[in-house]
Amino acid sequence: MSIENMDELINHLKSQGFVFQGSEIYGGLANSWDYGPLGVEIKSKLKSLWWKYFVKKNEFNVGLDSSIILNDNVWKSSGHIGNFNDPLIDCKNCKARYRADKLIEENLPNIVISGCTLEQLKAIILENKINCPKCGKLDYTDIRKFELMFKTYQGVIADDSSVVHLRPETAQGIFINFKNVQRTTRKKIPFGIGQMGKSFRNEITPGNFIFRTREFEQMELEFFFNPNDSKDWFEYWLNKVIIFLNEEINLDSKKYHIRHHEREELSHYSKKTVDIEFDFPFGRGELWGISHRGDFDLKAHQNGSKQNLMYLDTDTNEKYLPNVIEPSVGVERLLLAIFSQSYVEELLDDGTKRIVFKLPKKLAPYQIAIIPLQKQQNDKAYELFNELLTDFDAVYDITGNIGKRYRRQDAIGTLYCITIDFDSEADKKVTVRERDTMQQERILISELKNYLEQKLK
Ligand SMILES: [Zn+2]
Repeated sequence: MSIENMDELINHLKSQGFVFQGSEIYGGLANSWDYGPLGVEIKSKLKSLWWKYFVKKNEFNVGLDSSIILNDNVWKSSGHIGNFNDPLIDCKNCKARYRADKLIEENLPNIVISGCTLEQLKAIILENKINCPKCGKLDYTDIRKFELMFKTYQGVIADDSSVVHLRPETAQGIFINFKNVQRTTRKKIPFGIGQMGKSFRNEITPGNFIFRTREFEQMELEFFFNPNDSKDWFEYWLNKVIIFLNEEINLDSKKYHIRHHEREELSHYSKKTVDIEFDFPFGRGELWGISHRGDFDLKAHQNGSKQNLMYLDTDTNEKYLPNVIEPSVGVERLLLAIFSQSYVEELLDDGTKRIVFKLPKKLAPYQIAIIPLQKQQNDKAYELFNELLTDFDAVYDITGNIGKRYRRQDAIGTLYCITIDFDSEADKKVTVRERDTMQQERILISELKNYLEQKLK
């Protein structure tokens, strides 16, 4: 899919009830999106697949659901307050605002700017004559830092003592609960803690639909291990992530790429980082980050809280701060990758076009649609729909002619259409049509449940 059909994809998602513009009846709110009846289904299926794979069915890991608003000292210790900001620069002529680092990266891809001061960044822009992309002038303000965390007040009095922030990542909630989890589960190192939930970043340059939004949902795992362990846990989790992409959500392996960060671009806390990048319609972008954080976070919270966060190995009496591997992914980015890979327009033999949303089997909002061919079959079909609803994600569809109903189900990714017709009464069979191949089969109603269970495995 190319950038040209990004708009087409967005229109499709809006018209079918996957994603709506946020606050639409009030003219919208920039960069906010609501998930409609079909969007919420695929989103919740994706989250539950992640949870099952990384938490519930993993031998090492357990889960957590920590608060969005934490004691502000958490962010002071973690380095978010003070460090978590973007360098902004404004064009004096047209008032356009840019992230200075992005402006440089886009124009001078080979230059290394990490560690540069704000003055040095501005000098690079001026020396290399990076003109304003909007108006073409070279007349900028000084660069200043812009805080990325959303700030608010807790309690009735809005003064400095009641300032709190919305979390910019779910990870810190895990680190501050490391001891609680370890004590109550009696887990021995190595073990991991998974968490999913909303995070908030007041991004300067949000965009590309749901790729970068200020309110987003993360799925993060913090995996704690002994720094002297000979096993390569980084490779272990990188491999796990790849298996998840390939086997659980069937991401096209030609569309994603594994990129090792160069030493210069590593964050200050990271010993090693790998990004899995995906070919989105607008270009290549980060999908999933796997980072070796050392003992940076636990050490920071041990210092900040004055609590002992060391782990005691009761077998060896060894006492240490565990190291951490963090695979971290945004729900919406993963969704956008799946959406863009699944949207297909096909030209059929009769010259007509069909839009088919080839969503992965485990993520399609509906597995089956029950369709009575004519009014006379409505009662029988509705009865069958109710029976199958117990075991399958099913929808009952009676509007429009049969061709239209097939197209509609194709467009929302429904895997099988089950049609009751004139003959069903006599031969006790229904027609089952498969989404991608459009092939049809007559199946005995009594065997339908088994048949579908096999197909949907
Ligand atoms: Zn300008």
